[in-house]
Amino acid sequence: MYEVAQAGLIAASYRDIPPFPVIAPITVEEAVAAMANAEAPVPYAGGTDLCGAVREGKPIGTLVWLKRLEELRGTRIEGDALSVGALTTHAEGAASDAAAAIPGLAEAWSKLGKMRIRLSGTAGGNLMARHTRYEMSILLTALGGTARFASAAGETELTPAEIWDRAEPARALLTRLSIPLATDLRLDYDRSLRPLMTLALALWTDNGGKAEGRAAVATEYLRPASLRLDLRGTDARAIAAAAFEALPGEFADPVSGNEWLRRAGAAILARQLVRQDAARA
Ligand SMILES: Cc1cc2nc3c(=O)[nH]c(=O)nc-3n(C[C@H](O)[C@H](O)[C@H](O)COP(=O)(O)OP(=O)(O)OC[C@H]3O[C@@H](n4cnc5c(N)ncnc54)[C@H](O)[C@@H]3O)c2cc1C
Repeated sequence: MYEVAQAGLIAASYRDIPPFPVIAPITVEEAVAAMANAEAPVPYAGGTDLCGAVREGKPIGTLVWLKRLEELRGTRIEGDALSVGALTTHAEGAASDAAAAIPGLAEAWSKLGKMRIRLSGTAGGNLMARHTRYEMSILLTALGGTARFASAAGETELTPAEIWDRAEPARALLTRLSIPLATDLRLDYDRSLRPLMTLALALWTDNGGKAEGRAAVATEYLRPASLRLDLRGTDARAIAAAAFEALPGEFADPVSGNEWLRRAGAAILARQLVRQDAARA
């Protein structure tokens, strides 16, 4: 907002944004060079978050237009991992054949935002916007995935938690996400209590045939916390309660608090475990 003498407060519009140069690289090499050398570079993926941020005052020195980077597109199996290009839109990812390698992933991915957002918003932009209410970080945390960055310093692989800590090199570009395809890996995603709480459960079998599980819990205001599950018992409620006992005390949403998150989280997780059990019976 700004004030005009005879009109009062006026909302800022696109016309108020100062002009800036745009670079549209075709290869990752060109994109990395643009990020390294341009003045205050800002990558543009789907623009769904960035456009709003710019209207709210985010400055752009140079816009680096990513949409011509074919290397950042596509969801495919690479060795024993699911590889997701940073430019994959939510609609493309949810509809991809490769996503089917992880039962439950396509369904979860199809829930992110409304259709208008799903057609433009990308997996990479979702992570790099770093809003706790965005969900790609929750899914990636549960699935044990990582994100690959390219910069003038070379390539770096980071966990979702490290992205929250801004551990990537300066002026880095997120290129692809990688999810290791453990035996029988599957996902159960519950967003029925959003925005109070969102819970992703990943289950798989380790090399020795042992059942393994990880839950990722997040809220409107808190980045995901990761909880390992002890699946030796058969009582879903006991397994879920034990997992949530490990929820750190500082994981306390200003709206609901730690105690509520423990109780509600354990109840939802138990329901997810029962649902997954029933699906396999
Ligand atoms: C109205 C609305 C509702 C939404 N609802 C949901 C929801 O329910 N659930 C959900 O999960 N998400 C939701 N989103 C977020 C959405 O899913 C998008 O993923 C998100 O807005 C950003 O994606 P984008 O591709 O448009 O990124 P952009 O807006 O282009 O970029 C976002 C940020 O990431 C940076 N960036 C983008 N790509 C890269 C890259 N490859 N490397 C480095 N930096 C990069 C940009 O510079 C910018 O700072 C919503 C967004 C809006 C606007």
